[in-house]
Order: sequence, then structure tokens, then C-alpha cells
Amino acid sequence: MRRIYPLHAYGEAPREACYWRTTAPEADNPPARGTLSADVAIIGAGFTGLSAALHLAEAGADVIVLEAQDVGWGASGRNGGFCCLGGSAASDKALRRQFGEDARRDYRMTERRAVELAERLIDRHAMQVDRHSDGETTMAHTEAAYRGLEAQTADIERDYGVTPTLTPKADLIENGMNGPFHGALTIPIGFSLNPLKYAHGLAAAATSAGARIRGRSPVVKIEQGRSFTLTTPEARVQARRLIVATNGYSSDDLPDWMKARYLPTQSNVLVTREMTDAELAAQGWTTAQACYDDRFFLHYFRLMPNKRMLFGMRGGLFSAPWADARMHASIRQHFEAMFPAWRHVETPHSWHGLLSIARDLTPYVGPIDTMPGAFTAISYHGNGVAMATYAGALLADLAQDRAPQDPYPQIMQSPPKRWPLGRFRRAWFAPIYAAMWATGA
Ligand SMILES: Cc1cc2nc3c(=O)[nH]c(=O)nc-3n(C[C@H](O)[C@H](O)[C@H](O)COP(=O)(O)OP(=O)(O)OC[C@H]3O[C@@H](n4cnc5c(N)ncnc54)[C@H](O)[C@@H]3O)c2cc1C
Repeated sequence: MRRIYPLHAYGEAPREACYWRTTAPEADNPPARGTLSADVAIIGAGFTGLSAALHLAEAGADVIVLEAQDVGWGASGRNGGFCCLGGSAASDKALRRQFGEDARRDYRMTERRAVELAERLIDRHAMQVDRHSDGETTMAHTEAAYRGLEAQTADIERDYGVTPTLTPKADLIENGMNGPFHGALTIPIGFSLNPLKYAHGLAAAATSAGARIRGRSPVVKIEQGRSFTLTTPEARVQARRLIVATNGYSSDDLPDWMKARYLPTQSNVLVTREMTDAELAAQGWTTAQACYDDRFFLHYFRLMPNKRMLFGMRGGLFSAPWADARMHASIRQHFEAMFPAWRHVETPHSWHGLLSIARDLTPYVGPIDTMPGAFTAISYHGNGVAMATYAGALLADLAQDRAPQDPYPQIMQSPPKRWPLGRFRRAWFAPIYAAMWATGA
């Protein structure tokens, strides 16, 4: 498998101290063994693959999911758990210019539908996912940024059909949001969850609908004749249709179509020990809201119901033990700068994972055009809890040769262009990261 980071990024070390692993037992699905067949084979047991498996199995298809490690091992079981709007990182202006205003609006409404789908699945299958937060809150890191948030309210009402709430700086403390912020904007769509429990919940629902999930089954070869034949260390699996759901953990040669169509990038998370009420009061941060700031190096943070703070940040170009230590020190520094009253609070959990970015900053769900009968969904730009779930539902219809029942926006149908620089493409981040660090943007 040709991948663009050193092996360290694809190993156990980056997820070793992941908090979610202490909250749920590790999945232990048996490997695929022998000669197997299915209507649809899915590579990858993250939200994309699991949602596709669930929707396919519920529609009566015979499905097998082949996962290199086990359920939720990739980004899905180690993210920040913000189930919220997003999926594309392109601005409204860029979307309008490239796809037109109608397509842009369709996409925005789909973001809302994606959150609603995740919520419906959680409710329908009675998943226990430790939900909290009423919508999501963006914290302005400058006065100008707050004016920017004020200016967005009309667009949010028009695009998502909800009324956002503005919290001026003077009211932040009484809302339990004390920090270096100049105001906040809350969109009443979305919530937070324990992502590993959500992955397990999807897997359990898919399994009870009849899907077979196989762990420790890395697909090392895909061949196409009258059907697809997938090779894993212990099995050969034949299927009429194929779904590749590997996102940030994709390989440039599995299949070749993938080559340079995605750019994996790192996101990093800390979780504190449980804090006391006095410690929360000392910082003045008691809100249960899922929050972001509006910097390029996006910080995302939320106080969980058990009084542990989760704090995440994008960035990290290198993958090695020394790079992990450096990133841990850096994220800890950002955490302390934002919440100085918690400088003494330990953060025993620190981990990172890979998400994927597309060159035009939009997600793709659709055919792999060099392999008739194969489909993929990729690149949610760090907002895949809801959108990968939605993409999985779209893939399930596509793999049954039918038009998706859910809206399938044009913006998600445009195949990802290749990034320049091939396997060295993460070099794109170097000047961007350097400029952003220098300006503190
Ligand atoms: C640290 C971090 C924080 C994030 N925070 C948030 C957040 O708060 N909210 C949000 O919406 N999104 C967040 N994201 C993004 C979100 O987690 C992803 O967009 C989403 O999980 C992608 O799901 P997926 O199923 O497509 O891919 P993944 O969950 O990455 O799953 C891909 C799977 O494919 C498997 N695989 C790869 N190659 C093979 C092969 N050859 N054979 C078999 N299996 C293979 C991998 O082992 C992996 O399990 C975050 C991401 C990271 C890394």
C-alpha cells in the first residue's frame, strides 16, 4: 500500500492514549477467512463504511465490511465527537463561483440533513453515545471576527432555516464561557457525542441487520473481472459491488484511482482528567456547548458531562515519536493559553489521527470511474461525524444501482482532482502552516 506519511501515522502509537478507548471495549471482530462472497464489499469500518453497511443491510443486501484493524480504528473512533454542520472547507464565495448559487444552497441544506440523519440513527437504534450540547458555538477570537459572526446571521437563517443566537462579549461570563473571546455565535443544529460509542453503535446496528464485519482484514489487492475480488491476508472476497471507505487512511494504489486525490492531514486532541466544580468555576468555563474558535488552526473544545475538557487542534506535518511529543507540547501550550486557570490540570489523554482534504475543498461521494461498480466517499475536511454518516447512506443507494433517496447535491458529485506533488503533496501544508503560525491567524 502506497501511503504518504511514514508508517508511524498508520500504527497504534498515535491512538494509544485516546480517551475514547477508556470508555468502550475494543471491538473484536474476527478476520475474514477463506473464500467469501457478498453483494457488496466495503473497505473500511469508519462512519462511512459502517453507515453504508447499515443502509445496505437494511435494504436486504448481503454486505461484508473488511477493516484493516477494527471498528472505529481510524478517524471515526478518535475524533472530537462534534456532530455538526460541515464537510466542505470551501467558502460560500468559492462554492458559488464553482458550482452556482443553487448548488451551494443544496449543499448547505444537506449539511443539516446529515446531522439529522445521525440523530435519527442514534435514536432509532437506541445508541448510548453520551450526547450533550444544543447546536454548536463559534467563539470569536478578535473583535473583527465577532463582527464577522454578526454579519453571518442572515446567511445562516437563509441556508439552514434556523435562527442563530449571538452572545456579545459582555455576556460570555454569565453563559459560562470565560476565555480570550470577543463574543460567540450559536447555531442550533448539532450536538456532541462519544465517537467510538457511535462507531460501535453503527456497527451493532449493521450487524443486527445482517452485515458481516471483519476486523484485522486489510485489503491488499483489488482485482476486477466479472466481479471484484479482494485479497486480505487470510481471505479472498468476491463481490458484485465495491465501496472504498478509507478516507484519511487511504492508499494511493488501493485502487490506483485514489492516487493523489486526497490529502491526509493531522488533527490532535487532548482530554483532561475530571475537574472539580471549583476548578471549573476558577476558569469560568461551565457551558456544555460544543465550541470552536474561528482561527485557521481551528481549536475545538467542549466540557464533557463528566467534567473533563476536550481540546483539539489541527496541524502536524511530520509523523514520528518526536513529532508526537512536539505536537503534544504545542497543543498543551494552546490549551493553557486559552484556559489559564487550568494550567495545573493534567491532560492524560493526547492523541491524533488523519482526516482528508480535497483539492477543491469539497467532499466526494460517487463512482470510481475507472472501475465500473465501485464507489467511494472521501474528504469531509474534519467534519465527518455527520457527513460521513450521510455519505454512507448515499453510497448504499449507489451500490444498489439506484438514485439516492436522500438529496445528493451536485457539489458532492464532482470527482476530486489530483493534488500536485504526488506522494510529496503534504509539502503543500508547510508554507501555509508557517504563515499561519507567524501571523497567529
Ligand atoms: C483527531 C480528529 C478529530 C476530528 N474531530 C472531528 C469532529 O469533532 N467532528 C467531525 O465531524 N469530524 C471530526 N473529524 C473527522 C472525522 O473523524 C472523519 O471525517 C470521519 O471519521 C471519516 O470517517 P471515515 O469512515 O470516512 O474514515 P475513517 O474513520 O478514517 O475510517 C477509515 C478506515 O479504513 C480502514 N482502512 C484503510 N485502508 C484499509 C485497507 N486497505 N483495508 C481495510 N481497511 C482499511 C482504516 O483502518 C480505517 O479504520 C476528526 C478527525 C480527526 C483525525
